[in-house]
Amino acid sequence: MNTLHTQLLIIGGGPGGYVAAIRAGQAGLKTVLVEAQALGGTCLNVGCIPSKALLHAAEQFETATHAAAEGGNALGIRVQSPVLDLAKTMVWKDGIVAKLTGGVAHLVKKQKVEVLAATARIVDGKTVIATAADGSQTKISCDHLLLATGSTPVQIPGLPFGGDILSSTEALALTAVPAHLAVVGGGYIGLELGTAYAKLGAKVTVVEAQDRVLPAYDAELVKPVVKSLARLGITVLTGAKAQGFANGQLTVQLADDATQTVQADKVLVAVGRKTMTEGLNLEALQLTMGPGHSVVVDAQCKTSMTGVYAIGDLTGEPMLAHRAMAQGEVAVDAIAGKKVAFQPQVIPAVCFTDPEVVVVGLSPEQAKAQGIAVKTASFPFAGNGRAMTLEAGLDGFIRVVAREDNHRILGWQAVGTGVSELCSTFAHSIEMNERLEDVAHIIHAHPTLGEVVQEAAHKGLGRALHG
Ligand code: FAD
Ligand code: NAD
Repeated sequence: MNTLHTQLLIIGGGPGGYVAAIRAGQAGLKTVLVEAQALGGTCLNVGCIPSKALLHAAEQFETATHAAAEGGNALGIRVQSPVLDLAKTMVWKDGIVAKLTGGVAHLVKKQKVEVLAATARIVDGKTVIATAADGSQTKISCDHLLLATGSTPVQIPGLPFGGDILSSTEALALTAVPAHLAVVGGGYIGLELGTAYAKLGAKVTVVEAQDRVLPAYDAELVKPVVKSLARLGITVLTGAKAQGFANGQLTVQLADDATQTVQADKVLVAVGRKTMTEGLNLEALQLTMGPGHSVVVDAQCKTSMTGVYAIGDLTGEPMLAHRAMAQGEVAVDAIAGKKVAFQPQVIPAVCFTDPEVVVVGLSPEQAKAQGIAVKTASFPFAGNGRAMTLEAGLDGFIRVVAREDNHRILGWQAVGTGVSELCSTFAHSIEMNERLEDVAHIIHAHPTLGEVVQEAAHKGLGRALHG
């Protein structure tokens, strides 16, 4: 068995682990990164990036399909019936993934990080055995251990992954559009991929256990999404639980205990993700564990065991790539002796449905629940020139939540085409402790969707210009 010693050993090369590795290299720490599958982790290989690529391709195909079906669209564009070559779409998507993961490999190499393509098994807080695909093993000892092993899809009884029952990973690699796709779970993945496949031509049925889709968001915010799902011909069954799948039929138990069957060539199960600890031998460490078998960490991403750090999905909700990256930076800066803390006021969340949904900070209900008196103001996209030129769904809006007493902004919610690109503005305003007056008096370029951000602030002050 090979042996090596390093100052920092990182297990997992997803957005948490690879960002930590880059920072560690910059800090001059001798660093080893062990990755079992592919650099870039879930996000780059089977998550954020491929799903957004598929959504974009689906959007393009749907636009062309509509123009063809209507003998030309309102913009005066006429096309022949478009034909989809999904295998080629997947090659394009895989090309983006390859470029990005290749970029990560280049970046970590530039920082002189040693990458081992191997599965790590913990021996103790300072020792790990990495086993490569050919069975060769390396015993690595380290001064600091950083756990960044991420998460994997949750399975449900009666619907084990395999064959026509897909997790998001397989759903992102289909080479033919299923005629009928059943999606179990109306959360982030179910709605993003359900929307993509509906636009690519599948008849999609979403089966959601709660009484509405995207139950984590407030109902008003989700309304335009629900309308759009109907426009796309997606059937949504709420208060419904999938029980089993046989002979192309998904059995679903409804809220009133009646059962219904849903025709499906493929079933995508997207009911959440769980922390990835399989084969890691995490039990060898004395770690305080939290909800969902997550590793509890403090503001420096330290676990309850000295010298052992954890970041990303392994540390529980919210399981988002940008949180993992931010934690990766903090953990390494802490290891390098800097005074740092992971204490964001907000972590933006975006659901890339059509229209997109953005949530940053407190909703009016959350503020009230905390006993904070707030004023809220919503401004629609309906009167925004840029939204019209983009043919953006005009039933979208931006809502701002601010303290009643001093107008400090506590939260933003938005639904509409392209609102994902506004979430940095939202997060910025809260982290910089801006008030409604600040946003209202900053000049927002015309014509942009950002003008609706400014108008929402104006409206909160009781003096909207265009509404
Ligand atoms: P991961 O990215 O899961 O990386 C962990 C890595 O550790 C993996 O590469 C794994 O192979 C490796 N590993 C695990 N165990 C071992 C071991 N024992 N030895 C060696 N290596 C090991 N988030 C967003 O913010 N925006 C989005 O739009 C978004 N879209 C998503 C779409 C889908 C379909 C999915 C599934 C997820 C999406 N996410 C999105 C979530 C995002 O992918 C995760 O939050 C993010 O990847 C977490 O990063 P991480 O570094 O903690 O873990
Ligand atoms: P999710 O938590 O977003 O949604 C799961 C949905 O499944 C919920 O609405 C839940 O009520 C429902 N559900 C649970 N059990 C069910 C059952 N037995 N039958 C029917 N419905 C059931 O989880 P997800 O969509 O699997 O995504 C996992 C995580 O990945 C997300 O929480 C998020 O952290 C991350 N993600 C983020 C993005 C993004 O940022 N745009 C995109 C995809 C995934």
